Amino acid sequence: MQMSNPAEKKPHAVLIPYSVQGHINPLFGLAKLLHHRGFHITFVHTEYNYKRLFNSRGLKAFDGSPDFHFETIPDGLPLTDEVVNVTQDLAPLSKSVRENFLLPFRELLARLHDSAIAGHIPPVTGLVSDYSLTFTTQAAQEITLPILLFSTASASSLLSILQIRILSDKGLISLKDRIPTMKNFRPNHFIRTTDPNNFIVKSIIDMADSVLKAPTTVINTYEELETEAFKALSSMLPSVCPIGPFPSFLNQSPQNHLESLASNLWKEDTECLEWLKSKEPNSVVYVNFGSITVMSPEKLLEFAWGLANSKRPFLWIIRPDLVIGGSVILSSEFVNEISDRSLIASWCSQEQVLNHPSIGGFLTHCGWNSTIESICAGVPMVCWPFFADQPTNCRNICNE
Ligand code: UDP
Repeated sequence: MQMSNPAEKKPHAVLIPYSVQGHINPLFGLAKLLHHRGFHITFVHTEYNYKRLFNSRGLKAFDGSPDFHFETIPDGLPLTDEVVNVTQDLAPLSKSVRENFLLPFRELLARLHDSAIAGHIPPVTGLVSDYSLTFTTQAAQEITLPILLFSTASASSLLSILQIRILSDKGLISLKDRIPTMKNFRPNHFIRTTDPNNFIVKSIIDMADSVLKAPTTVINTYEELETEAFKALSSMLPSVCPIGPFPSFLNQSPQNHLESLASNLWKEDTECLEWLKSKEPNSVVYVNFGSITVMSPEKLLEFAWGLANSKRPFLWIIRPDLVIGGSVILSSEFVNEISDRSLIASWCSQEQVLNHPSIGGFLTHCGWNSTIESICAGVPMVCWPFFADQPTNCRNICNE
């Protein structure tokens, strides 16, 4: 099909996330906002996640608008017969991102170029890349394409990442060092290892390197929320812009712009929204530990009885892969104790839940998306951070 109408020659942005839920969602939000502002969009998933999206949402996951396209690249990990409905193991995924993503991404850009020459799509005007994907900068440089880096972490966490890089260069990194320009913050809030080959350390150094070199970095946050961190970042980076919070902007777009397109990799339970309707305003504790956090069966039981003994209604999302070592068995004693006032589900539309009037509080692992979504919904948080930027977010939620 040729593009006949020159008005269809829109600016064309190619967006590529790191392939886990907490990175896909905010970049997908940005894709929708750019589309709303007149961009032609190409959104790049790994083949694995594309299949997961198809399994969870069917064809409607990709069927929103002719100028919002999806493309896939392989993730370079061993193929499995069936798509397992879990977050891929981060260490091999991060290694594969470093080693295997450049080639297929380069080929994808070449295909898009050919397609534009044939008049099927507008020429690509720029890339928006997750800040943890270093190969995208190389691919963009090779064909002199402008690139924007998108930080899925908060400004404070990005600052920590840059400072950890600097301390590590100076050979100063120790678990007890304090981060200059960040009160009371130490690297061990972020990294709990003394192994320099730990994949989180390596990923942090990679991310810092690409952000330090990037012409512009944008963050899903707003300046009033992180004033000090922005001041410090502005003195270190060529250009850094707060462009969030996305949940508020997306809620303001008219008529649920591209409503059928969504990015949740798990099938959402809708019954919980019905159940919430039966509850008093501000009465329900919502419990969700995001897409990656795991815990021991003992810890899960501790939470279970803590929630039961609170005597409050709660909605608890227990992902199938939340508990280390497999399935969850909650005793009939526990089930009897909570069944008339609580609900357990395996995944939900978190933003819909947080914005439900019955929700009164959020027990969270402090992922940055969960944090910003909770702030936008005006829901107070109780924090149980697990790893990566979560302790930093927790500290900011509780102390700042
Ligand atoms: N999410 C969701 N339903 C769930 C759990 C999570 O929609 O049951 C979404 C949540 O709204 C957020 C993302 O998944 O956008 C999780 O990102 P976050 O940064 O909070 O945590 P991560 O999963 O990266 O640890």
